[in-house]
Order: sequence, then C-alpha cells, then structure tokens
Amino acid sequence: MKIICVGMNYALHNEEMHETAVSEEPVLFLKPDTALQKEGWPFFVPEFSKQVEYETELVVRISRLGRHIQERFAHRYYNEVSLGIDFTARDVQQKLRAQGLPWEISKGFDNSAVVGKFIPLDDLDKPVQDLRFNMYLNGTLRQTGHTADMLHSVDRLVAYASRYFMLKIGDLIFTGTPAGVGTVSENDTITADLEGRRILECRIK
Ligand code: MG
Repeated sequence: MKIICVGMNYALHNEEMHETAVSEEPVLFLKPDTALQKEGWPFFVPEFSKQVEYETELVVRISRLGRHIQERFAHRYYNEVSLGIDFTARDVQQKLRAQGLPWEISKGFDNSAVVGKFIPLDDLDKPVQDLRFNMYLNGTLRQTGHTADMLHSVDRLVAYASRYFMLKIGDLIFTGTPAGVGTVSENDTITADLEGRRILECRIK
C-alpha cells in the first residue's frame, strides 16, 4: 500500500505557514508503507529533529483499484474515512526547502503516519465534504477542521492522484491539515474526534 498526502489544502493553514504561492492543482507527496504506525503504538520523536509537528487530517481509504478516474466517479473508489496525524519534522523540511531540495525525509520517516479507526461513510450519514473534526493535545483543543474548507475536494484529490499513481485497495489519502499545527514533546497525548466520535489516540514517547 502507499500513502498519498496532500499539502496546502486549507487556506488558513497556508496562511499560518506563510505560504503565498498556492498552486491551482493539488500538491501531492508520498509516504512509504513503512511510515504507517501500528495501531495503538506510541509515536517516538525521532532523534534527527528538534521540531516534530502534528498535522491532523481526514484520511480516506481506497476501496477499488483505479487509474485515470473521473472526478464524478471518484466517490465510488472510497467508502471509509478516519483521522490521521501527518507527523512532520518541520526543521528538517524547512532546511531542505530553503535549499530547493526534496523534503521527503521530513515527511516519510518511519512511523510518521498515525491513523485512527476507520468509519464507513454510510455510518456517518453525512457527505464527505461536510465532516467536522477536532484534535486535542493533552486534552486542550488545538486543531479544528471542517472538510467543507478544503481547497480541493476529496473527489478531486482522488481523480487528480489517479492520473499519476494507480490507486489500489488499501491505499490511504491524507487530505491536508487545517490551521493550528504545533510541536509535540515526549509524554504528550494526542486525541482526535470525527463528528464527535473519538477515533484516534496517540501517545508521544
Ligand atoms: Mg499534512
């Protein structure tokens, strides 16, 4: 399986990152399968970074093989969603970006993708572009997202990604973070709710 991630998909997050040159097309990058954290395991802050940040994102699981999917048919290619944390070694990323180099290692390192429990979209009884989620760091609300605020919808992301990468059953799409990203430290606990359901808990070690 592969993990396809989307950058800069919420305007307020782009502002907080001082990102002015926002692309018309979705910004994609990949994490390898080794980035996927085992469910329920703690996240260990890697030794190569002094600034690992959380990014809480709606995650979509692909349920059908497809390529060159048209946007109007994209909804047929996923039926479950969750929340995930796209852990980012921000200091490493910024250093590489400043040098104009690829910043893969800052995003794709081992266990940098934490994913909660998946919920069938049918159970949520709401369209995928009308889901609300909250993330708490040690019990304090830090991020709040509404999928209506995405710059590129889930269907558009599925269609766009499938032009370049064949989508396979079990592939995950991290759909981008809303504003409020911040640093994690040892002994923190992250929890997150999707539509009021607690579906993710991650201890930081
Ligand atoms: Mg992200």
